[in-house]
Amino acid sequence: MGDRMPAVTPLVTRFAPSPNGRLHLGHALSAIIAHDLAKASGGRFLLRIEDIDGPRSRPDLADEFRRDLAWLGLEWEEVPAQSTRLASYAAAAEALKARGLLYACTCTRKEIAEAGARPGLEGLIYPGTCKHRPPDPARPAAWRLDAAKALAATGPLLWQDELAGPQAVDFSGLGDVVLVRKDLPASYHLAVTLDDAADGVTLVTRGADLFAASHVHRTLQALLGLPAVRWYHHPLLTDETGQKLAKRRGSPALAERRAAGENGRMLAEQLRMQHLRLGT
Ligand code: GLU
Ligand code: ZN
Repeated sequence: MGDRMPAVTPLVTRFAPSPNGRLHLGHALSAIIAHDLAKASGGRFLLRIEDIDGPRSRPDLADEFRRDLAWLGLEWEEVPAQSTRLASYAAAAEALKARGLLYACTCTRKEIAEAGARPGLEGLIYPGTCKHRPPDPARPAAWRLDAAKALAATGPLLWQDELAGPQAVDFSGLGDVVLVRKDLPASYHLAVTLDDAADGVTLVTRGADLFAASHVHRTLQALLGLPAVRWYHHPLLTDETGQKLAKRRGSPALAERRAAGENGRMLAEQLRMQHLRLGT
């Protein structure tokens, strides 16, 4: 078709903060990357509040997050918060249970540690204690994805990270992850996969600390007949000593910097430069 440039597909990206703590520089970088990738493609940048963390969720923080994003100079469309979508999580969990892909687990953290669980990519790898025993109906149960059955159902799967390249789904560092928490009709993995599909997200951007979760999310997409998205796991910000920036080491919250009169748009520019230097 002549020598026209190939059309750029408009991307739909999102920033999905959990209102259980204030936003910090790492969150700002995630939001800026998602925003800029969407806008550069003529697409849409969404904000979704992931507020299903029970008593740890603080509704007042959602407003603070919106003010932080505006202060950074970002424009977004907000989609419904996770707390409004619990019925869709429960329905998907029931469908997976009906196919025998989930099993009930009544173990406590302590029991899992005592069963000799080895460390994996997301904490301890569940040693499978409940996989072959009937659940004790007197104890609260979580529901875990039987990774072996899931892989048998999907066959070999690939997912695409824009920076790291193609990845083969691999549960060896994850084990049988929780899809339904004891206290909620979903876990992070199930909720985020369903929401990204419902919101039409095409490129999931988030920090490299969540890289391994995408093995689970790609599997859930295949099991639930959801479209395969692409991922962009950005490198994490580090301090001068090379340590990950984390709130526990006292980096000030965005809201504190905002209140102190710092220019948010200039901070956003600095983070963009830093991201380029981190070697995308
Ligand atoms: N809500 C998650 C968090 O704040 C992020 C989810 C995601 O980007 O997949 O850590
Ligand atoms: Zn168990």
